[in-house]
Amino acid sequence: MFVYLDHTATTPTSPEVMKAMMPYFGEIFGNPSSVYSFSRKSREAIEKARNQVAASLNADPSEIFFTGSGTEADNWALKGTLEKAKISGKNHLITTKIEHHAILHTAEYLHKVEGVDVTYLPVNSEGFVSVEDVKNAITDKTALVSVMFANNEVGTIEPVKEIGALCREHKIPFHTDAVQAAAHLKIDVKAMNIDMLSMSAHKMYGPKGVGALYLRRGLHPENFIHGGAQEHKHRASTENIAGIVGFGEAMEILQGRLEEDKALNSARRDRLISGILERIPHAKLNGATGDNRLPNNINFSFIGVEGETLLLDLDAKGISASTGSACSSESLDPSHVLLALGLKHEMAHGSLRFTIGRLTTDEQIDYVLEVLPEIVSRRREMSPLWEDYIKSQA
Ligand code: PLP
Repeated sequence: MFVYLDHTATTPTSPEVMKAMMPYFGEIFGNPSSVYSFSRKSREAIEKARNQVAASLNADPSEIFFTGSGTEADNWALKGTLEKAKISGKNHLITTKIEHHAILHTAEYLHKVEGVDVTYLPVNSEGFVSVEDVKNAITDKTALVSVMFANNEVGTIEPVKEIGALCREHKIPFHTDAVQAAAHLKIDVKAMNIDMLSMSAHKMYGPKGVGALYLRRGLHPENFIHGGAQEHKHRASTENIAGIVGFGEAMEILQGRLEEDKALNSARRDRLISGILERIPHAKLNGATGDNRLPNNINFSFIGVEGETLLLDLDAKGISASTGSACSSESLDPSHVLLALGLKHEMAHGSLRFTIGRLTTDEQIDYVLEVLPEIVSRRREMSPLWEDYIKSQA
């Protein structure tokens, strides 16, 4: 059996989305910037997608800018805002310890190269950022607050609306990385006080290599990519038309099935969580519970075993899972997110993430529940760490 449980890393492009994209690889190939009528079809396709994305967020189409990825949208929001803020003497960025590397490494770059002061807010044991901590971190030099909407490793959903309201009060722009959240939750940028928001199509059954930045009207961060006049002079380079069309289509389809997907995903998530807790002793669920957790995220630590070893054992049984962010799968360092939640190194090393999606069935969940306890138990039998742990519990 092939069981794909890594929908947070990426999702398959849905057949409807592929169908919508196909003409733009072939017959409709005109450059949207050209003036003749043939290229107008390409321009119209991009504007339709912009409308689809904007409508899903309760934004105006003029506030949506397509990018090459979620990572690029994050880079643009942070670098563009901090660069612009220099003019008014502001050089302070507030973010959190559990952001994706697209934010964390950009913040590190800004500190190293631009001398930006960065505050990395802590989180509690379930991964929540405190609004009070954001408030206390604000200074008269703060140029931007960036707090992710939902965490990609443990699925914790942050109090974005409240943080946004606080930032409005202090007249500080608020950015949120919604690359994971936008695939599962209804987002209303106006009601949620969001000034900038990053998204990525491949997390929501759209194609890879296309993202977007929502920029509330009136905000003008410096451009990130320089060149031609595309994206209303804010993001140069000839548009990835097929990708953008696919993004718009994926986003519209998603809105129509958001509640249905959420109900199905969270039922399967809870079935897998309770099954693991029942069958595997000393299994620790990482992150928050219920509505405060992304409906598709399951993250466990199994003391005494390496997550990487479990991944290989699961792979041998046809199950694709992850130990955390796909982008850091080549690193053997423990997850910065789990460490920020207060896990000890050995627990962070023994973590496993399953993320379910439209491909997942109840039978697949039961199959995981059948094979995982045996795998963990076999690995623990060979583990000196497990032996020490059991002795320490006696
Ligand atoms: N932000 C978060 C929270 C993510 O989970 C990811 C991808 O895993 C990204 C940003 C990067 O998105 P992209 O793969 O489109 O560059």
